[in-house]
Amino acid sequence: MLLRRLEAYGFKSFAEKTQLEFGRGVTAIVGPNGSGKSNISDAIRWALGEQSIRSLRGAKMEDVIFAGSIKRRAAGVAEVSLVFDNQDGQLPLDYNEVIITRRVFRSGDSEYYINKTGCRLKDIHDLLLDTGIGRDSMTVISQNKIDEILSSKPEERRLLFEEAAGISKYKLRKREALRK
Ligand code: ATP
Ligand code: MG
Repeated sequence: MLLRRLEAYGFKSFAEKTQLEFGRGVTAIVGPNGSGKSNISDAIRWALGEQSIRSLRGAKMEDVIFAGSIKRRAAGVAEVSLVFDNQDGQLPLDYNEVIITRRVFRSGDSEYYINKTGCRLKDIHDLLLDTGIGRDSMTVISQNKIDEILSSKPEERRLLFEEAAGISKYKLRKREALRK
C-alpha cells in the first residue's frame, strides 16, 4: 500500500496547510531537532484513528491542535488527510485514490471522512482491516515504543511478538470461547 500524500493543517506544528508528497522511493525524512519529523508520523497514526493521546506525545486531544506562536494565533481545528494509492484495488473502493481524513475541534469532537464523505471511526477500521495499516498494526513504531520494548519484561515483550505475528486475535477468541 502506497501512501502518496499527506495533507495537514492546524495539526501540531503544521499551522499552515502543508502537503507532503511521498511517492515511491522515499525511505527517510531528515531535519533538525524539533522541526516536526515525529509530528509527521503522529499525523499518520492520528488520521488512522489513534485514540491514545499519550502515544501522540500529548496530554489531551486538544494538544494536537496548533497551539499558536509569536507570529501566528492558535488554530481552532486540526485536520489531516492521507491519500493512498488504490490502483491495485487493495482497498475495496472503486477509486484510484482513497483519502482518509480526520478533523478535531477544540471541543474534542472528532470527524472522520473517507473520500470526503463523513463516516464513523469504525468504517475506517473496517476499511483498513487486514491491510497492515490499521489501528493495531506495527506499521508505525515510535521512539517511545522502542524504549518500551527494550525495557519491558520478557512476558510483556512476548505480547508484542504475538501481536506482530497475528496470534493475539486467536488468543482473544480462545479466551472468549472458554468463558462461554
Ligand atoms: P527530534 O529530532 O528531536 O526528534 P522532530 O523533528 O521529531 O525532533 P517533532 O517532535 O516532530 O520534532 O516536533 C516538535 C515540535 O512540534 C516542537 O517545536 C513543538 O513545539 C511543536 N509542537 C508540538 N505540538 C504542537 C502544537 N500543538 N502546536 C504548535 N507546535 C507544536
Ligand atoms: Mg522526533
